[in-house]
Amino acid sequence: MKPIPNPIPESRLPAGYCVFCRQTLETTGGRRMVAQHNLAVMRVNGRCAGGHSRVAERVLPLEAGSDTGLLLRGEPGRWSEAAIARARRDALAGLHPWFCQRCAGRVCRTCGTPAPHPMGADLLHAQGRITHLAIFPFNPGCDNPQCTRYKPREQQA
Ligand SMILES: [Zn+2]
Ligand SMILES: [Zn+2]
Repeated sequence: MKPIPNPIPESRLPAGYCVFCRQTLETTGGRRMVAQHNLAVMRVNGRCAGGHSRVAERVLPLEAGSDTGLLLRGEPGRWSEAAIARARRDALAGLHPWFCQRCAGRVCRTCGTPAPHPMGADLLHAQGRITHLAIFPFNPGCDNPQCTRYKPREQQA
Protein backbone atom coordinates (compact mmCIF):
# COMPACT_ATOMS: atom_id res chain seq x y z
CA MET A 1 0.00 0.00 0.00
CA LYS A 2 1.25 3.41 -0.84
CA PRO A 3 1.56 5.73 2.16
CA ILE A 4 -1.09 8.40 2.28
CA PRO A 5 0.55 11.73 1.59
CA ASN A 6 0.25 14.19 4.38
CA PRO A 7 -0.80 17.36 2.61
CA ILE A 8 -0.33 20.01 5.31
CA PRO A 9 1.71 21.35 6.87
CA GLU A 10 4.60 20.82 4.53
CA SER A 11 7.06 23.35 3.36
CA ARG A 12 7.07 24.43 -0.25
CA LEU A 13 9.52 26.97 -1.52
CA PRO A 14 7.89 30.16 -2.73
CA ALA A 15 7.13 30.62 -6.40
CA GLY A 16 9.35 33.15 -8.11
CA TYR A 17 6.66 35.77 -8.67
CA CYS A 18 3.50 37.26 -7.18
CA VAL A 19 0.62 35.23 -8.61
CA PHE A 20 -1.26 38.42 -9.56
CA CYS A 21 1.27 41.00 -10.77
CA ARG A 22 4.14 38.60 -11.67
CA GLN A 23 6.71 40.79 -9.92
CA THR A 24 9.45 39.36 -7.74
CA LEU A 25 9.57 40.15 -4.03
CA GLU A 26 12.67 42.26 -4.68
CA THR A 27 10.51 44.48 -6.91
CA THR A 28 7.35 44.60 -4.83
CA GLY A 29 8.94 44.92 -1.39
CA GLY A 30 7.14 43.81 1.76
CA ARG A 31 6.40 40.16 2.53
CA ARG A 32 5.02 37.23 0.59
CA MET A 33 1.40 36.66 1.62
CA VAL A 34 -0.71 33.52 1.24
CA ALA A 35 -3.85 34.54 3.15
CA GLN A 36 -5.81 37.39 4.60
CA HIS A 37 -9.53 37.86 5.24
CA ASN A 38 -10.51 38.45 1.61
CA LEU A 39 -7.70 36.82 -0.37
CA ALA A 40 -5.87 33.51 -0.15
CA VAL A 41 -3.90 30.93 -2.08
CA MET A 42 -3.13 27.93 0.12
CA ARG A 43 -2.39 24.25 -0.15
CA VAL A 44 -5.11 22.40 1.71
CA ASN A 45 -6.51 19.01 2.41
CA GLY A 46 -9.45 19.03 0.03
CA ARG A 47 -11.94 17.35 2.31
CA CYS A 48 -11.84 19.94 5.03
CA ALA A 49 -11.00 23.04 3.08
CA GLY A 50 -12.69 26.37 3.01
CA GLY A 51 -16.00 27.51 4.33
CA HIS A 52 -14.55 29.79 6.97
CA SER A 53 -14.76 32.95 4.96
CA ARG A 54 -17.63 35.08 3.74
CA VAL A 55 -15.59 35.68 0.60
CA ALA A 56 -15.92 33.20 -2.26
CA GLU A 57 -13.56 30.24 -2.12
CA ARG A 58 -12.82 27.35 -4.42
CA VAL A 59 -10.44 24.43 -4.21
CA LEU A 60 -8.52 23.39 -7.31
CA PRO A 61 -7.59 19.71 -7.29
CA LEU A 62 -3.87 19.27 -7.84
CA GLU A 63 -3.06 15.60 -8.25
CA ALA A 64 -5.27 12.70 -9.18
CA GLY A 65 -5.71 10.33 -6.27
CA SER A 66 -4.57 12.90 -3.74
CA ASP A 67 -6.62 15.04 -1.43
CA THR A 68 -4.27 17.95 -1.79
CA GLY A 69 -5.81 20.98 -3.36
CA LEU A 70 -5.18 24.63 -3.79
CA LEU A 71 -7.65 26.90 -2.07
CA LEU A 72 -8.29 30.22 -3.78
CA ARG A 73 -10.19 32.94 -1.94
CA GLY A 74 -11.17 36.22 -3.47
CA GLU A 75 -13.90 38.68 -4.27
CA PRO A 76 -15.66 38.12 -7.61
CA GLY A 77 -13.33 38.99 -10.49
CA ARG A 78 -10.22 38.88 -8.32
CA TRP A 79 -8.88 35.63 -9.75
CA SER A 80 -8.42 35.94 -13.49
CA GLU A 81 -8.10 32.77 -15.54
CA ALA A 82 -4.42 33.63 -16.04
CA ALA A 83 -3.81 34.03 -12.28
CA ILE A 84 -5.57 30.73 -11.57
CA ALA A 85 -3.45 29.01 -14.22
CA ARG A 86 -0.26 30.47 -12.73
CA ALA A 87 -1.20 29.39 -9.20
CA ARG A 88 -1.97 25.88 -10.38
CA ARG A 89 1.19 25.62 -12.46
CA ASP A 90 3.40 26.79 -9.59
CA ALA A 91 1.70 24.41 -7.15
CA LEU A 92 2.11 21.48 -9.52
CA ALA A 93 5.79 22.38 -9.87
CA GLY A 94 6.13 21.89 -6.12
CA LEU A 95 6.25 25.59 -5.30
CA HIS A 96 3.89 27.62 -3.15
CA PRO A 97 2.09 30.46 -4.94
CA TRP A 98 1.86 33.76 -3.08
CA PHE A 99 0.80 37.35 -3.58
CA CYS A 100 2.51 40.60 -2.75
CA GLN A 101 1.36 43.25 -0.31
CA ARG A 102 0.59 45.65 -3.13
CA CYS A 103 -1.84 43.21 -4.75
CA ALA A 104 -3.34 42.54 -1.30
CA GLY A 105 -3.75 46.26 -0.67
CA ARG A 106 -1.50 46.11 2.39
CA VAL A 107 0.37 49.30 1.71
CA CYS A 108 0.69 52.68 3.40
CA ARG A 109 -2.41 54.75 2.55
CA THR A 110 -0.27 57.85 2.25
CA CYS A 111 2.69 56.75 0.10
CA GLY A 112 1.98 53.18 -1.06
CA THR A 113 4.97 51.54 0.63
CA PRO A 114 4.21 47.95 1.75
CA ALA A 115 3.06 48.06 5.38
CA PRO A 116 5.76 46.88 7.82
CA HIS A 117 3.31 44.61 9.71
CA PRO A 118 0.49 43.24 7.53
CA MET A 119 -1.50 42.12 10.58
CA GLY A 120 -3.90 39.22 10.30
CA ALA A 121 -2.04 37.82 7.30
CA ASP A 122 -0.39 34.45 6.72
CA LEU A 123 3.12 35.04 5.45
CA LEU A 124 5.27 32.71 3.35
CA HIS A 125 8.95 32.81 4.23
CA ALA A 126 11.92 32.17 1.96
CA GLN A 127 12.38 28.56 3.13
CA GLY A 128 8.69 27.75 2.79
CA ARG A 129 7.55 28.23 6.38
CA ILE A 130 4.13 29.87 6.79
CA THR A 131 3.44 32.00 9.84
CA HIS A 132 0.45 34.00 10.97
CA LEU A 133 0.93 37.62 11.92
CA ALA A 134 -1.49 38.33 14.75
CA ILE A 135 -3.52 41.49 15.02
CA PHE A 136 -2.23 43.89 17.66
CA PRO A 137 -3.74 47.26 18.52
CA PHE A 138 -0.85 49.46 17.55
CA ASN A 139 -0.08 51.69 14.64
CA PRO A 140 3.01 50.30 12.90
CA GLY A 141 3.52 53.47 10.87
CA CYS A 142 5.38 53.35 7.58
CA ASP A 143 8.85 52.19 6.50
CA ASN A 144 9.40 55.07 4.10
CA PRO A 145 11.51 57.86 5.66
CA GLN A 146 9.99 60.36 3.17
CA CYS A 147 6.44 59.60 4.38
CA THR A 148 4.52 61.62 6.97
CA ARG A 149 3.54 58.33 8.67
CA TYR A 150 7.16 57.16 8.94
CA LYS A 151 8.20 55.37 12.12
CA PRO A 152 11.73 54.03 12.59
CA ARG A 153 11.79 50.22 12.95
CA GLU A 154 12.65 50.31 16.65
CA GLN A 155 9.51 52.39 17.35
CA GLN A 156 7.15 50.19 15.35
CA ALA A 157 6.24 47.71 18.08
ZN1 LIG B 1 1.55 41.47 -6.72
ZN1 LIG C 1 3.96 55.83 3.93
